[in-house]
Amino acid sequence: MPFLKRSFLDEASTQAASTLSLAVAALNGHLKRYEALPALIADNDDIKELLARPGEKTLRANANHYLRAINALLKSSDIYVMDETGETIAASNFDRPASFIGENFSYRPYFQDAIAGRDARFYALGTTSAKRGYYFSAPIRIYGTIRGVIAFKVDVDQIEASWPAGESRILVTDPEGIIFMSGNRDWLYAGLKPLTAERLARTQASRRYSDAVLRELPVSETRFRDHVLMSVTDRDGTTREYLAREEHVTDAGWTVHVLLDTASVQSQIRTATVAIVLSLLLAGLGLLVLMQRKARRDEQLSMEIRAKAELERRVEERTSDLARVNQQLRETQADLIQAAKLAGLGQMSAALSHEFNQPLAAVRNYAESAALLMARGRTEEASDNVSRITKLVDRMASLGQHLRNFARKPNEKLGPVSLPAVLTDTLEIVAPRLNAAGARLVIDLGDPAPVVLAGPVRLQQVLVNIITNAGDAVEGRENRLIELTARESGEAVTIALRDHGEGVPPAIAARIFDPFFTTKGVGKGLGLGLSISYNIVKDFGGELSVANHPDGGAVFSIVLATANPVSTTMEAAQ
Ligand code: ADP
Repeated sequence: MPFLKRSFLDEASTQAASTLSLAVAALNGHLKRYEALPALIADNDDIKELLARPGEKTLRANANHYLRAINALLKSSDIYVMDETGETIAASNFDRPASFIGENFSYRPYFQDAIAGRDARFYALGTTSAKRGYYFSAPIRIYGTIRGVIAFKVDVDQIEASWPAGESRILVTDPEGIIFMSGNRDWLYAGLKPLTAERLARTQASRRYSDAVLRELPVSETRFRDHVLMSVTDRDGTTREYLAREEHVTDAGWTVHVLLDTASVQSQIRTATVAIVLSLLLAGLGLLVLMQRKARRDEQLSMEIRAKAELERRVEERTSDLARVNQQLRETQADLIQAAKLAGLGQMSAALSHEFNQPLAAVRNYAESAALLMARGRTEEASDNVSRITKLVDRMASLGQHLRNFARKPNEKLGPVSLPAVLTDTLEIVAPRLNAAGARLVIDLGDPAPVVLAGPVRLQQVLVNIITNAGDAVEGRENRLIELTARESGEAVTIALRDHGEGVPPAIAARIFDPFFTTKGVGKGLGLGLSISYNIVKDFGGELSVANHPDGGAVFSIVLATANPVSTTMEAAQ
């Protein structure tokens, strides 16, 4: 992940930069302490005197002691005086085994610079001491003439020791790119830059590194954005990568480098990568769970929508089926009513023919006797006969009228119906059948007789049905009494018809209102009367029910709504 590498490298680079500036400050500070000292000591009279008379032993001894004392005071490594030829004539280490006395340093640039009149500095590995040091030098002038050089050598080991140990390595390279200060001893005198012939020649001329073996450090440099990455292979063959930062110390001509091992950066990157990958995985997992949940919810929702649509479709289907069936039922009912009426007509035709034949025979008799009476001039009696004939004809006409009504399909609206009026018409129809059965109908409508909300023709049809049934039920029985009562209570009027027949057995009570249910023999009953009656009463908003009287016989009850006879007019389409 390059962005991670970049961010960690940026951070490491900042850390390296602060280490670097600390190292540079420490180095400068350390060297600055000695900078002015050579010139100061060059001005010392004893030293000058020694240079004027180098052969004098006391002067040498004085100078030697003086230099040793200052050296101890200043905590420098060595202080020594050279004559014009570069030979050391006094030194702080005069009494040590590796004393500089007698050594000639004319090849050293610091000598050459100072003898030419310039203060100089030089870094080198001591040829005599084999210790690395930083040399400060100054010309010694006697009356304006340069007669010798004083040099100051400062040990760099302590500077190195002050560098912090840790992930970062501090190096100092000379202008030729050779490492002369390093926390890592292995890297000393190794070149960061290729050791070209010129570089080697320059280094050898100054004998800067004495007899030390120079080599090239196996380094390869890469860049990552604005960061320099250095891979260094150590002597043991391991290669490490470092983030490198450097700063040039102009005065000394040195370059201070800070190398920061990227291993920790790499491991940070690895940790962060793992963390990111893990969190991405977690987030992905979370997202997946969310998406699955959403998909499930969507699926559920669409299933619900589908189920709802299906339900609505079914409801619609059922509704239209129901409407169709209702329509069919209504048509069938109407057909059945018609059929039942015709059947009833057929049933009654025998009784009716008797009803018609009897008055017809009577009319015939009256007419014949009227003719005889008129021939005999008994016109008064004859006209009495004629009026009897007229009555009989009227009766037959009225019977015919009712039968025609009965056969007609009713198309009437509901309205107030007066029970006495309906019963009068009903009786005209049922009377022949009741007479044939030998039944006696007793009517008690109360006073005043109730007015009900119904259609007169259809109510009459219902009454004809149940009265005819009652006639059937009492036929041949000892008690052939049929009682019809009407009672008003609150908003309802109950018309009850009780007979003294066998009653309705409980097993069939629930089925007698079913179409085509009949206990009567073939050709006698169609089983439609009660079902039609039931539906008619329902159409009126009322109830038709059956019960058995405790004292025997069936009781059919018609419950209808009371109608206000004053405010409503009858709208029967008869
Ligand atoms: P049907 O008279 O043509 O049989 P209904 O629908 O009028 O058809 O009557 C159905 C049945 O109800 C009759 O067959 C009969 O068994 C029974 N039923 C009707 N009225 C009475 C009654 N008053 N007493 C006993 N049974 C009755």
